Amino acid sequence: MTVFHDLLRVQDLDTAADRLRHRRTNLPELAELAAAEDELALVEGSLAGADANAAESARALRHLEAELAVVEAKIAELDAKLYSGVVTVPRELQAMQTEGSALRERRSAMEDEVLEAMDGKERLDEQLAELGRRRDALDAAGVRLRAAVAESQAAIDRELAEEVVARAEAAAAIPAEVGALYEMLRARLGGVAAAPLVNGRCGGCHLALPATEVARLRKEPAETLVRCEQCERILVRP
Ligand SMILES: [Zn+2]
Repeated sequence: MTVFHDLLRVQDLDTAADRLRHRRTNLPELAELAAAEDELALVEGSLAGADANAAESARALRHLEAELAVVEAKIAELDAKLYSGVVTVPRELQAMQTEGSALRERRSAMEDEVLEAMDGKERLDEQLAELGRRRDALDAAGVRLRAAVAESQAAIDRELAEEVVARAEAAAAIPAEVGALYEMLRARLGGVAAAPLVNGRCGGCHLALPATEVARLRKEPAETLVRCEQCERILVRP
């Protein structure tokens, strides 16, 4: 066993820790949460608009109903006068009847308008309720997903803490200059700085070394640091 075997152990632990960190930031629940939050923002925007529309439609309906009440009061007043017997002049009676039928036509048209406005208000209220239900569902999903993310991340953090301890033990005997070279290569070569040499093949770039190179490496003392000619990684001989 050489410090290079320790280095390989450190590499394994670092690779495992890299995977854990990647998993931590790429949890499927995080993507779901982001989608739920995006949709919630849209739903809240729609809710504000629908809320204003519903309020406007309620105002318009109240206004129409008030106008209709005025017309109905006028009709009642006219009918009372017409049937009271106070007016006897035929021309006046004729005029009152003409006015009465004009008012009834007006009332009928206004009743249609009120019904239409009630329909419109009902549709807006339904839309508002539907958006409210969607918002509540998204709120609940957000709570559930945030809890799931926290739970998964806490589990990953516990694993990472164990890796840190194991790594410190594995790295204890590695000389500072070897450690520094390892870190430099790790930063440059996608996280893999040390690789085993297995059957004349580099475990980092997976290319076979020339037979002459394999023979040369075999003659190097075990404590000599050797590197792959092709990918520059530290090669750990068996
Ligand atoms: Zn290589």
